[in-house]
Amino acid sequence: MSHDPTEMCELLVGLPDVNVLAVHDRSATTPLRVEIETRVETPVVCAGCGAVAKIKDRPPVPLVDLPAFGRATRLVWIKRRWECPDPRCVTGSWTELEPRIAAPRMSMTSRAGRWSTLQVGKYGRTVSEVADELGADWHTINDAVIANGTALVDHPDRIGDVEALGLDEVLFSRRGEWRIRQWSTSIVDVRAGRLLDVVEGRDSAPACRWLANRGPGWCGKIRYGTLDLSGSYRAVFDTMLPEATQVADPFHVHRLAAQKLDEVRRRVQQETLGHRGRKSDPLYRARKLLVLAQERLDEPRQDKLVGLLAAGDPRGEVATAWHAKEAVRELYAHRNPDLAVEWVDQLSADMQDRGCPPEVRQLGRTIRRWREQIAAWHGAQVPNGPTESMNNLSKRVKRVAFGMTNFVHWHIRVLLYAGQPNWSLLSTVQPA
Ligand SMILES: [Zn+2]
Repeated sequence: MSHDPTEMCELLVGLPDVNVLAVHDRSATTPLRVEIETRVETPVVCAGCGAVAKIKDRPPVPLVDLPAFGRATRLVWIKRRWECPDPRCVTGSWTELEPRIAAPRMSMTSRAGRWSTLQVGKYGRTVSEVADELGADWHTINDAVIANGTALVDHPDRIGDVEALGLDEVLFSRRGEWRIRQWSTSIVDVRAGRLLDVVEGRDSAPACRWLANRGPGWCGKIRYGTLDLSGSYRAVFDTMLPEATQVADPFHVHRLAAQKLDEVRRRVQQETLGHRGRKSDPLYRARKLLVLAQERLDEPRQDKLVGLLAAGDPRGEVATAWHAKEAVRELYAHRNPDLAVEWVDQLSADMQDRGCPPEVRQLGRTIRRWREQIAAWHGAQVPNGPTESMNNLSKRVKRVAFGMTNFVHWHIRVLLYAGQPNWSLLSTVQPA
């Protein structure tokens, strides 16, 4: 406890070894300005010649700080610019540094920078929200988040050994007048449901480079590689992890089957009625019921679906595609890994039957092409255990993706939010 006015001020400001010089309160709507200086207890000497330095000038440097008593606050650091008294010395002049107050070049205090990083990185708040709260501009906050975040994300202990590695494409922005889609690839520890990194693009080269940088020792511990049904990720595993068993992610297999069903519905709609779905058309009315899994269709819904298909699907094509989608789901209910390839082959053969709509036959061919990766799931069951954490991870990844346009920013932000950095290191990191 202190009753000394000077000490009381210093306690409130809460920085080590500073003198509080003044507090300005211009109006209730402008930030409170607290002027400080560092305490100089021993003479400062020139690094070049050892002469005792003299003060050249005292530039005030305003820094965004944490709010004080509910008010936006600026810490105005009255810095000292020193100069060597000896005109022959090459050192000239220099400005004092104190990273406990603020890192060089940062326009906010170190503590406000760490707090902003936590708000944006861990709690997923937007940069503008935090900027508003501190009465700062967007770039000031973003710079601090990127600088502190880079140090956390690049920490060598963040990525441990991984047994099942997943690759997945993520759309992170649409750029420019033509809204060109910007893709990135998430590299995921599938068992832990943890984002390891994101690399630019969705072709194989960046992910291959990333694995090459991890080194053969790390790569050698990976037993499973999970992927969507895309050739480029298959190429990554073929090239970089030839020993790992490739596993098709059930989510993507389901999604493909659902897409094919949707294509059949749209085509039959167009062929029978000659126009795109309208509110009163039976197939349009059936679209939400078609998406539901069979066990979620109670009797009234099932009757409704049967009625709508009888009215809108004269050749039974939509019904066939619906059964195909359900058969793909059933594939994953089986539990015997030794029979899995047979089931996959049987399913793809059934789908390629001449009587099936072309979209279903195409699905059958795709399943045939990926038969080993699809069947491998039954042996590895990689994404099955941590499905919940994987869903949670993908939600977190997408939440950050919204509105990001700069890959460097996206990279740091998504890893802070979904990459489980060690937040306890935040108080010790040096902004990068
Ligand atoms: Zn000197």
